Amino acid sequence: MSARYKSYVQNHHITLVFFLLIFSFSATAEANPKKMRFHLQKTIVIDPGHGGYEKGGQGPDGTFEKTVTLKFARVLAEELEKTYKTILTRTDDYRVDIPTRSATANHVDADMFISIHTGGSFLHQAGGMSLYYYKKTSKSTLTLDPDSSKEFKNDNTETSWSNIQNRHRQNSKILAELVRDHIGRQAQYKPDIQGAPLVVLEGADMPAILIEIGYITNPVDEKSLHDIDVLSKIAKEIRNGIDDFFEKLQ
Ligand SMILES: [Zn+2]
Repeated sequence: MSARYKSYVQNHHITLVFFLLIFSFSATAEANPKKMRFHLQKTIVIDPGHGGYEKGGQGPDGTFEKTVTLKFARVLAEELEKTYKTILTRTDDYRVDIPTRSATANHVDADMFISIHTGGSFLHQAGGMSLYYYKKTSKSTLTLDPDSSKEFKNDNTETSWSNIQNRHRQNSKILAELVRDHIGRQAQYKPDIQGAPLVVLEGADMPAILIEIGYITNPVDEKSLHDIDVLSKIAKEIRNGIDDFFEKLQ
């Protein structure tokens, strides 16, 4: 091969590589619309309620809330990991104190904090999903789970942390509404939304909601909270609500 021909081949080769690069870049841009790349930069902290000796509520069949919240948090993380960076405040059955949960989200500068719980009532027929955002209230007593009075706090014991979530209250409420709108499309779920002085949310310096994915004390809910198909369906709808949130507000 002559030096001239060699140089022609090399140049031609470089041109070809160059075209291939351009082509592959434009192909990538088409396959991954802007919003997908945008989502990859977002971090969502998922907080499985309770853990360790703090078992949370208990179902008639003996299921502990702490087990269901971790199981669902893993399902939700798997769903969200397709488009977001996710971090769990606990990854196994151990206790994490409440301030540490939102502090974890603040530490990693998360874009969203989602705390997972189940509802509980002494009435077995009480059931369904509920969504909460942080709101100070003049009511001094509120109960969520039978044994989780620590999760709520009244105005009399307010700390300086409570102001942090206050800044995000409007967005947290919008997030709750968007998640509710998607979950509500599944006929069996009509989640309600409440503002409540939830301690686990008050220190979070980003949009934050608490989701009760069902009533552990309701025998039907308790059974469906073991069903991976049900959990995956709920996780998908939560993801749709989160996608809407980031598309609308960021
Ligand atoms: Zn709980």
